[in-house]
Formats: sequence, C-alpha cells, structure tokens
Amino acid sequence: MRISARRRLPAAIAAVAVGIGAATVAVLAPGSDASAASGCQVAYRVNQWSGGFVAYVDVTAGTSPVHGWTVTWTYSAGQQITSSWSAQVSQSGSAVTATSMSYNADLAAGATTEFGVQGTSGASNPVPTDLAVTGSGCAGTGTPSTTPSPSRSASPSPTPSRSASVSPTPSRSPSPSPTVTPPTSPPPAGCGSATVCDGFENQAAGTPSGDWAISYPNCSGSSTATIDTTTAHSGGKSLRVNGAAGYCNHIFVGPTRSLTGIGPVWYARFYVRHTTALPAAHVAFAAMRDAADGGNDLRMGGQNGALQWNRQSDDATLPEQSPTGVSLSVPLPTNQWTCVEFMVNGTAGTMQTWVNGTDVAGLHEDGTPTQDVDRQWLSRANWRPQLTDFRLGWEAYGDGADTLWYDDVALGATRIGC
Ligand code: CA
Repeated sequence: MRISARRRLPAAIAAVAVGIGAATVAVLAPGSDASAASGCQVAYRVNQWSGGFVAYVDVTAGTSPVHGWTVTWTYSAGQQITSSWSAQVSQSGSAVTATSMSYNADLAAGATTEFGVQGTSGASNPVPTDLAVTGSGCAGTGTPSTTPSPSRSASPSPTPSRSASVSPTPSRSPSPSPTVTPPTSPPPAGCGSATVCDGFENQAAGTPSGDWAISYPNCSGSSTATIDTTTAHSGGKSLRVNGAAGYCNHIFVGPTRSLTGIGPVWYARFYVRHTTALPAAHVAFAAMRDAADGGNDLRMGGQNGALQWNRQSDDATLPEQSPTGVSLSVPLPTNQWTCVEFMVNGTAGTMQTWVNGTDVAGLHEDGTPTQDVDRQWLSRANWRPQLTDFRLGWEAYGDGADTLWYDDVALGATRIGC
C-alpha cells in the first residue's frame, strides 16, 4: 500500500498540471518517508497570466478519514490573494492559511476535495514550496516534504492573451446571444406600476439629480457618473459611468426615493451596455445595502470573466468561483445593450438572475446547496436579506476599469421583464 501511495504522486501531478502557464507542486504531509502513506496529501496547481493567477489546491486524505483540515503555504514573490472558494482563506504577509468549510471538512480515506484562490502577482509567480496540510486524521508529526514541481517549470510563463486567463471556463459559451430586442416603445416600457421605473429622460445632462443621486460609500476617486444624452437604450438619455480600477475609485448612482414599499421580495430590471469585458479580477456594478447583514452590500458584478453575485460581509460568491461554477454563469456582452433582471427573496432567502430573459443557472440560489453553484452562499445559515437601497455604478477591488451605460431601470415586487 505504501508503495502504491508513493507511486500515485507523480501520476497525480501529471493529472493536475493543466494548460499553458500552469505549474504544479505537490507534497506529502506530514513526513516524506513511509509514514507518508498514512498521511494527507496536498497538491497546488496554478493557471497564471500577466499580473494574476488562479490556483487550485487538492487535499487528499491518507489511509484514515479526515475530520477538518488546514493547508498552509508561503508566497515568495509578493503574490496577494484576492478571493477564494471552498475554504476559509486568510493571508498575513506572505503566509497563507486555508481551513476547511463545514461541507468539505470530512474526507473519507483516500478522498480528495478541492478549493481555490485567485490572486495578483508580480513579474514572477513561483509556486509555493512549503505546502503543508494538517488535520484530524492526517497522522504524523514530521516536517512536510515538498516534492519539487517535476519538469514543469515553476517560473511563470504568462499566458499571452486575456482569453487564456479565463481558461477555468472552457465550456462557457463564448458569446451569449445578443438577442435584446431593439426598443420599440417609449421608455421604459412595461414598468409603470413598479416602485422605480425610470429611463433618465427627466434628467438634465450632467450630474444626476432629483430622483437619482451619486454616492461614494467609503472613499472617492477618479470615477465619474453623468447623464449622457448621446447614448440610450430607449429615449435619448442614459446614465454613464466611467469606472476606474481600485476600490476607492468606486462610484454609484441610485434612486433617492424610498424603496421600502417594495416589500421583502425585490425584482429588478435594468439595461446595461459596457465597453470592457468583465476581468478575471472581482468587480461589481450593482450594490444593495442589506439591513439584515449589518448594512453590508449585496453585490452583482463579475469575476473570472463571468457574472457573479458577491456578499460583502463574508465574500461568498454565487456561483462558486470553481471552473465548473464559473462555466455555469455567462459573460456580460460588450458594446451592446443587455437586459439584466434579478429577484431577491428576503422571505425565502433565494435569488434568481436572468440575462436577456434567460435564467442563468450559476446565478440561481434556490435554497438547496449545490456544489459549484450556491453551496458557498448557503454556508451561511438563514440568509434573509432586507434590502434598503439600490445602486448602479462601478466598484473594482483590484484590476478592472470599464465604461458603462445604464438605462430603463425598474424595481418592483413582481417581475418586470425586458
Ligand atoms: Ca433612456
């Protein structure tokens, strides 16, 4: 058994090294000798591009079941983790600690679970060489032994194109059908009974005013928001946001009227046209304050090139940012008006999202945890949002600048449609 366990390692390395720009390191931990056969293993593989990376970490139980695990490593070149999935990940300086979630803490003997991180890197992105895994069932006390990444170079070979950088999403349709029907009726059609039903036609060019107000929740920088009289989904005006990268360049514009009359179930519909494809890094273009979550934002935006929801208070994402999860979402098409609709049910604690009228599976939180989709989101028990405001704009937590237009915004208690 111990022989087969040791022989399995190179095969595992070969199996997990993927794609251009990928590098892998695997370790037995603890101990590198015969005792390793009963210990846990951890393997780390990375897909990288200029300035960023996604890393996938596999934790495999040894000959005993595992009940709770912790993986640690150290980055040697200033890599900074910006998000994670399927583990509680923290970084202090160069040291990273990842701890199992409730749903993947228990591993049967020989079983493997995967978690992941996304981060930024400098000119080089060497894989960590001190990976270690500890946990109940990961028997032994020896020092973890690193198996150097075999022939695969740990030095970066950045993928040349942005499209390669979103390689975690191979199965995603490259271009959602641009099936938005050109507007045929006065703006904004079909939302007259909604609490908000506004196509910005009553706004004067320049700074939003009256029914709309700009906000910078925590700090302000170089982004701008204006009423644009040259681009519109319908009518002759829209809201234009020039969004810059970096958190403090965030800017939002929201209705000034009270939204409490909508009740616990919100339906929103807006049209958005943007210029730059959603980046690999995390961005948001809509935010709603959740009074049931300490006033933190419920955010709609993107990551890994596809639409996602994000919960500010614990950084949970919908879908999970695993390759499968990302593939169940869709990109936000550029240079065309796209109809985005969502439902947030504060009574049931569920969410649903439509793009151009079609339900997006990865953006549908139905209350039943599904791996790659809403399992991470539902790891918080009894999530019951109480939304108090609605803002459109731009917020980038790292990289990512974009120019966006919004039009025909509607908020109400029933679905509005495109
Ligand atoms: Ca308009």
